[in-house]
Amino acid sequence: STQRGFQVKVEKTNWNDIGGLESVKKQLIQAVEWPLKYRDTFTRLGLKPPRGILLYGPPGCSKTTLVKVIATTSGAAFLSINGAELYSPFVGDSEKIIRSTFQRARSSTPSVIFFDEIDAIVGKRSFDKGNSNSFSGDSVQERVLSMLLNEMDGIEIVNNVLVVGATNRPDMLDDALLRPGRFDKLIYIPPPDLIARKEILKIHTSEMPLSDDVDLNVIAEQAEFYSGADLKNLCRESAMIALREMMNTTNVKMTDFQNALHVAKPSLTVEIIKSY
Ligand code: ATP
Repeated sequence: STQRGFQVKVEKTNWNDIGGLESVKKQLIQAVEWPLKYRDTFTRLGLKPPRGILLYGPPGCSKTTLVKVIATTSGAAFLSINGAELYSPFVGDSEKIIRSTFQRARSSTPSVIFFDEIDAIVGKRSFDKGNSNSFSGDSVQERVLSMLLNEMDGIEIVNNVLVVGATNRPDMLDDALLRPGRFDKLIYIPPPDLIARKEILKIHTSEMPLSDDVDLNVIAEQAEFYSGADLKNLCRESAMIALREMMNTTNVKMTDFQNALHVAKPSLTVEIIKSY
């Protein structure tokens, strides 16, 4: 059953679909998988598992994918809400969506509620009607935020529900979300380094017939400032270029990648990366 802005789905993604990010994977396994899997041990040791974890970092660097994988491999139900879509007129009553998502999460534990673009849930409000000083306490965003905070505060540790948020704009988040007991664990998801870029290229070309001259090392070096999503796009573009030449060839060649680098550009810059 899938509705816009409110989806329950289990996807067949796994750790092998994510290139690089070794230390992030370890952190996430500790922060997300352990509390879900070893809840009794946590309790016995007097450890309070986190309720909310916030992943932040530049766009297209696999925040969403990481959470899906971790939910799947932990055997947890994965419920996802997109902060921006939440206010779409097609979605309906935003508060109701929050409430019913938490309800569903509680009735199918262990579960992970994922808020993608969580900054959009309240981040918008500073631009509301161009007047940043007059937050009316009853704007939709205000009500949705307080509903979310209430639900998070109401999660008992025994409920075994974990809330994970993702944002490219941590600076836009309402402070109330970052208080203890809410999103109190922050994990930075960095852009891919050279080794990660090579792994990501490998993943997204794994089903492509590559000609022998294709050197993913070289492409990874040339692809500085490419996010994971940019690299995926680059691979697609290379295949599209090869497709246009399919009369003479059956493989994706190094020149296709070189041409694709001019078309599929990176979305990251030094400034963007430094801003985190
Ligand atoms: P955004 O912040 O824009 O929502 P995100 O950080 O959540 O992006 P995803 O949506 O998970 O990123 O990734 C975008 C796409 O890029 C995915 O389809 C994924 O396949 C690919 N991708 C990103 N990073 C990686 C990676 N490290 N390894 C493999 N694929 C990646």
